[in-house]
Amino acid sequence: MSGFDLDLFVIGGGSGGVRAGRLAASMGKRVAIAEEYRFGGTCVIRGCVPKKLFVYASQFPEHFEDSAGYGWSLGEARFDWQTLVANKDREIARLEGLYRKGLENAGAQIIEGRAVLIDPHTVRVGEKTFTAEKILIATGGRPNVHEALPGNEHCIFSNEAFDLEELPRSIAVEGGGYIAVEFANIFHGLGVETTLVYRGKEILSRFDGDLRHGLHEAMEAKGIRIICQDIFEKIEKREDARLDAHLMSGTTMTFDKIMLAIGRVPNTEGLGLAEAGVETGVKGEILVDDYSRTNVENIWAIGDVTDRVQLTPVAIHEAMCFIETAFKDNPTPVDHQDIATAVFSQPEIGTVGLSEEAAAERFDELEIYRASFRPMRHTLSGRQEKMIMKLVVDAASRRVVGAHILGPDAGEMAQLLGIAVKARLTKDDFDKTMAVHPSAAEELVTMYQPTYRVRNGERV
Ligand code: NDP
Repeated sequence: MSGFDLDLFVIGGGSGGVRAGRLAASMGKRVAIAEEYRFGGTCVIRGCVPKKLFVYASQFPEHFEDSAGYGWSLGEARFDWQTLVANKDREIARLEGLYRKGLENAGAQIIEGRAVLIDPHTVRVGEKTFTAEKILIATGGRPNVHEALPGNEHCIFSNEAFDLEELPRSIAVEGGGYIAVEFANIFHGLGVETTLVYRGKEILSRFDGDLRHGLHEAMEAKGIRIICQDIFEKIEKREDARLDAHLMSGTTMTFDKIMLAIGRVPNTEGLGLAEAGVETGVKGEILVDDYSRTNVENIWAIGDVTDRVQLTPVAIHEAMCFIETAFKDNPTPVDHQDIATAVFSQPEIGTVGLSEEAAAERFDELEIYRASFRPMRHTLSGRQEKMIMKLVVDAASRRVVGAHILGPDAGEMAQLLGIAVKARLTKDDFDKTMAVHPSAAEELVTMYQPTYRVRNGERV
């Protein structure tokens, strides 16, 4: 036994920290985990989970509309925001309880409070100090509050969006990433007049171009106003409590609420990193190697605080690699290649691997298989929304290097495509696979001829 109080002290009770703490404790290690707010972290408390519940809530009006073509007639639909928020809170409290129970059952010591590093082996929480052989920092991130924007104090961020006292009549969301796009769709679906303002040419800058344009068109067709190549320069509160947004283009627009979703920053301030000698990068993120180890040998960091890939499953994967490396004598680098991901927009995006644009930079010749069609569920409903499916294939090796879907259940499909792309399967493997019929997904194994090729970066 080491001369320390603990084998592992985990700072932060989010997805990554809880997984690491639970696994280490279940191996019989002496583990303590400190959390200053609520166990579950961003994902459970104010991120993925409540967001997905809100996505479901916002989809009902379209389901009601679509049901008419299938013979249903419904009475007047009414929505109560307070009911949704209260039910969401109940579900989050349940999940938070499960996170705590998992830690307790594994034998980890739960500490409520803010942990600060005193030196490489000592952590203080309130009046108490603990020594630990290893320390894992998993403190996550928080919304970038855009300090340079005059009037930013009048804006809300994703954290507040989950608990508004009432739904605004109108909202503007600034940003073109996951959060801005998902919340613009949520607010619109719940009946809020919604405007999205994005600084670039097209929303979702790192995604495949076809999906970006397809989603943009679909969102506009639903009635979401999208303004690209513009930014807010100043926000002013009016006497009637509404907000005037002055844009770089010279326009002034008035909204009930303005939400900023321009990225997230790592939670590293006041953690005692300098005291422990831990190096950080330009955004304050903790710098780590492929094994999530910092420059201080016994201190590790995982999840959003390292600003590698800000996704819950990635933090969990990093936690498992950390356990293998630090406690099982099995050094396991984190593999950040080909991460399947979904944007829960409406329609949804599911994607894995390289976009056509990124693949074109890496391979001499690509075959692009692309289908755009109205999914069967929209035939009787009359909805005109199209689904897009796209496979990006390296012509030389025949490997499917990217798979992209826009449409219903795209996220669910991306999970399975993730296995195929990760396994480096070829287009011939896809072709050998029988279709599931009738389904939308069958298109993925029945696109036999390339729609076009990309040679040296040019479509031919
Ligand atoms: P993103 O990095 O996805 O998007 C940030 C957006 O803000 C980009 O469009 C960016 O533009 C824009 N932006 C950045 N700085 C400024 C600025 N100063 N002024 C105006 N616009 C600016 O971050 P999000 O906040 O949307 O989400 C944070 C992370 O959370 C995501 O990266 C994702 O990893 C994770 N997440 C995942 C979800 C999921 O899996 N479904 C859901 C929600 C979040 P540009 O493109 O030009 O850089």
